[in-house]
Amino acid sequence: MHKQLKYKFELKFCLKFLVIIFLIVLIITPSSALDKDLEKSLPPLESHPLPTPLNQWQDQPYSGDYFEQIQASVGGYLLWSEFPIKIYFDRPDNPDDIAATTRRFNQWVNAVKKSINEWNTYLSMIEVSQPELADIIIERKDPPIEPKIDPETGQLQIPRARTAQTRYEFYIKNNKLLHKMIIKISPRLSEIATLSAVRHELGHGLGIWGHSLDENDVLYFSQVSASIPISSRDINTLKKIYEQPTRLGWPLPINN
Ligand SMILES: [Zn+2]
Repeated sequence: MHKQLKYKFELKFCLKFLVIIFLIVLIITPSSALDKDLEKSLPPLESHPLPTPLNQWQDQPYSGDYFEQIQASVGGYLLWSEFPIKIYFDRPDNPDDIAATTRRFNQWVNAVKKSINEWNTYLSMIEVSQPELADIIIERKDPPIEPKIDPETGQLQIPRARTAQTRYEFYIKNNKLLHKMIIKISPRLSEIATLSAVRHELGHGLGIWGHSLDENDVLYFSQVSASIPISSRDINTLKKIYEQPTRLGWPLPINN
């Protein structure tokens, strides 16, 4: 009798242990199973032909790059495969208006156009009149302030207001996996600060999703007051990104 009880207890204990193991396995597996499912439903990684200006770009002697700082998204490296890249940016309703607010808006537009022209040497872009048609959208807006919870203290942190931000979205069109870049540039910046902000954010928008550790590069992680022109290292990095395989711009698998 006593022995039987002990046996029952042990069995119960064993079952409990098995249930716990089973639960742990269940918690661990879904994420990797999900990743595999996701990978199967996305286009396979493939390279696109290198855009001509980047193909012709030669940096002798090689001044280096910061490709190791660049992150790929779930869709692969965030590069464009159809040119010219369609770009939309905000413009005042009546640019000839002499009001100070319009003058400031026009300065913002000039800085945006100048920066587009600079990058246009390496990747061709064309202005479109509607944001719905664009691959890259540049809005004259302050980026949202996104409060975060400090993981150590559990307290809400309100970050300092940012003046520029770039984010991306994926969508599917004609069965292809595509992306869209949305850039926000504050209306509060001076013309020269707007120029360096757009130059930096447009670098992200064109695929440089990461930051240089060298302050002489446009994609240096911290905004510097001086206006830094696009460096050879920026272009070397851009070229390496465009040589990578990506899922973007390729059709989804048929048995989806
Ligand atoms: Zn940045």
